[in-house]
Amino acid sequence: MYQGSCLCGAIKVEIDGPITDIIHCHCSLCRKSSGTAYATNGFIQAESFKVIDPEQQLGYFERKEGRRRHFCGNCASPVYSSSSADPARYRIRLGILDTPIRERPISHNFVTSKADWEDLDAALPRYEQYEPSRNK
Ligand SMILES: [Zn+2]
Ligand SMILES: [Zn+2]
Repeated sequence: MYQGSCLCGAIKVEIDGPITDIIHCHCSLCRKSSGTAYATNGFIQAESFKVIDPEQQLGYFERKEGRRRHFCGNCASPVYSSSSADPARYRIRLGILDTPIRERPISHNFVTSKADWEDLDAALPRYEQYEPSRNK
């Protein structure tokens, strides 16, 4: 059982099954909706997914009819996406998970749409927390 939550904690999710087809998506929609260089997304079975939303904060944005991006109405974190053309599966952003997962990403997708400042192979230094040069 995997568990996740939105940034404010109002919405919690449980996934009782595998996460498949995990990819880093660099398409412009994922960049805009995440505000980051790319989104890491995977499929889950709708029947394995439970949303715990006691304050009824879950809202959605429908960019294309039938394709809903469900998010927390309080903190705006993405929770999951659904498509009326594929009702048995949902797509989740892996960043909402609080528990470790067994599965791993398999690819970078839509790399022709990637942000020009994102270098997939950058040999940038890695820090456990903030970079030392950060202005606090
Ligand atoms: Zn929230
Ligand atoms: Zn995308």
